[in-house]
Amino acid sequence: MYQLQDSVLSIKGIGKNLQATLENFNIQQVLDFLLFLPLRYEDRSDIRTIEAIKNLDLDQDKTNFLTTKAKVIKWNEYRKGRLLISRATIADTTDQIACLWFNNKFLKNKISIGQEYFFSGRIKDGTLMQATVEKTDGENIHTGRLVPIYSQLADLKQGNIRRLLAEVLGKLHQSGEAEQIFHNLHFPRDPQQVIAARERLALEEMVFLMQKSASYKKQHQEKKAIFSLKTIPQNQIENLPFTLTKAQEKAVAEIMHDLSQKFPMNRLLVGDVGSGKTIVAALPAKAIVQAGQNVCLIVPTKILAKQHFSNLSSIFKEIEFELVDAENKLQTKNKEKGIFYIGTHALLKQLKTIKPSLVIYDEQQRFGVKHRQLEEHLCQTKRQAHLLNMTATPIPRSLMLSIFSHLDLSHLDQMPNARKIAHTWLVPEQKRENALEWLVKELQAEDPKKSRKKQALIVCPFINPSSYQATENVAAVEDIASNLKKDLQKIYQKLNFPAKTELKIGLLHSQLEKKQQAKIIKQVYQQEIQLLISTPMVEVGVDLPNADIIIIESAERFGLSSLHQLRGRVGRQGQESYCLLFNSKGLNQAQANQERLQKFCQEKDGLKLAELDLNNRGAGDLLGYQQSGFANLKFASWTNLKIIEQAKKTLSENQSYVSFLQSYLEKDSISQGINSATN
Ligand code: ADP
Ligand code: MG
Repeated sequence: MYQLQDSVLSIKGIGKNLQATLENFNIQQVLDFLLFLPLRYEDRSDIRTIEAIKNLDLDQDKTNFLTTKAKVIKWNEYRKGRLLISRATIADTTDQIACLWFNNKFLKNKISIGQEYFFSGRIKDGTLMQATVEKTDGENIHTGRLVPIYSQLADLKQGNIRRLLAEVLGKLHQSGEAEQIFHNLHFPRDPQQVIAARERLALEEMVFLMQKSASYKKQHQEKKAIFSLKTIPQNQIENLPFTLTKAQEKAVAEIMHDLSQKFPMNRLLVGDVGSGKTIVAALPAKAIVQAGQNVCLIVPTKILAKQHFSNLSSIFKEIEFELVDAENKLQTKNKEKGIFYIGTHALLKQLKTIKPSLVIYDEQQRFGVKHRQLEEHLCQTKRQAHLLNMTATPIPRSLMLSIFSHLDLSHLDQMPNARKIAHTWLVPEQKRENALEWLVKELQAEDPKKSRKKQALIVCPFINPSSYQATENVAAVEDIASNLKKDLQKIYQKLNFPAKTELKIGLLHSQLEKKQQAKIIKQVYQQEIQLLISTPMVEVGVDLPNADIIIIESAERFGLSSLHQLRGRVGRQGQESYCLLFNSKGLNQAQANQERLQKFCQEKDGLKLAELDLNNRGAGDLLGYQQSGFANLKFASWTNLKIIEQAKKTLSENQSYVSFLQSYLEKDSISQGINSATN
């Protein structure tokens, strides 16, 4: 019998080595392992007769997994050099078919002649290739049903992951409910069971977050600010290169007000990419610096730090700035004057030395991801720095307030005029070549005004949304790049391009060494690379101010919020920009979900898109494509109002509700994020 809190070492089939490997994936307890959820499910429940398989229109069904239930009538195995070849003939009442396997040394012990099995595989030249074989008695886990497919977990094979999970689920000693939920998540009868079980996890998470937030609010009320403004300065905005939007003005006023209070600010500034959060944070920061205090602005990338540093120091000439990152170490300066420090996470190590009165933390869209060093710094003493978090996560206001009662909220719901959202088109497959030709011409043309050429970004499919680093994502980039190069060659020939004017292409993904990544980004900056092919990592980490065009491959796999973040990567300097959506090649109409993407082309509002995302979620997503989360919530979604209502109700009925996920949620970063915001 297993308990949720047991170490994974207690699971039959997991030894010390595997335990150590799982540790790297943050899987320590049985509960963690059960929460290693399938990436998607493959429908292998459709069991066909051999006759039906042979009659298939193979052109159409070639890529599909086929399952049949048949008896083995012939079996042999032989070596050809290093290759072990196994062959079988299997038969049912309708017909017979050949099976072929390579290097499967376990098959011999599994298969007996005359016995019936499920066989699942793909058909090639009339033969069933590399089929999985499973007995027809007992609960089958690999075939004849909805089969869970997991992301890469160390070097475990899919079959092994399933077998280990089935072992745990078979002997889970738990109140019936949790057991059933986990069973439905891994081995569901139908997609509805997955949806219900996922919603249940989401509910647990929401309740947990609300409980946390309430307890932090209580602690927060007992803290004092290190420094408060005596008066709120007026006429601050006279020297700005633009006029603030009404939304910006309001947010600045809210922050200024907080800074004049005796207790520390704990505010979240929410605004879409390009809504102008930086200046909203910088104006109050300037007031603090002018009052002789230090401010730290912490941003996710070195490039952003440099950008903010040069922009803000040219706008606010009257105060002193300092850039701190891995290369620019902290300098000791005149302590009499306040300094506006701007930097990457390197700045976190210096908080003790700098002693800022205001910390501004820019999390991009990954709301809730905060750094332990910041948390530690903030909870040191009874006196605390004011904290302003900035995020582009589209979180509806009412919703934020009801979940995070301990945070104050400013919302930029208005875009500055200068910033245009990229013109967006969904490109049908037959127009793909035309689109690429257009791209080539655009990138070749000199922009007369800026004396530079345009730049484009191609983002590859999100094969494995659980991790930007997943090997699947990297494989997709390399695949797309090599296909694209072929396509481009055709276009060059057609347009009669001399070889030296061909586009310079760069490849970027997270498995490249950091140095190599930095080199590529630099080349993009210096316009040496015109076309950058990348994993969705650009969604989070990379800022490319010059990019004009973005092409998103396999767009049907992305949530609308993610697509919106991605198209926010181009036109950063207010130039006209374009976003082209390509579907995966050979996708059928239903899978492509054209309507959803069509709506995306029309809709420019990030919040509305987040809501559309919610409405579009359903069985289809679970059987193939996943939402890519924009925040690091584990299970819930910021836009799922139903779950949030349920969570409130659960709490009102039982204040001291204890979730069966508690030990898991406690170590999750979002709750640590909340923690830091108030401690
Ligand atoms: P984000 O909210 O994504 O952090 P930024 O603060 O980087 O957005 O602002 C995006 C761009 O818009 C910057 O170039 C900034 O100078 C500009 N900007 C900000 N506010 C305004 C405004 N009120 N009018 C015109 N341009 C603005
Ligand atoms: Mg920003």
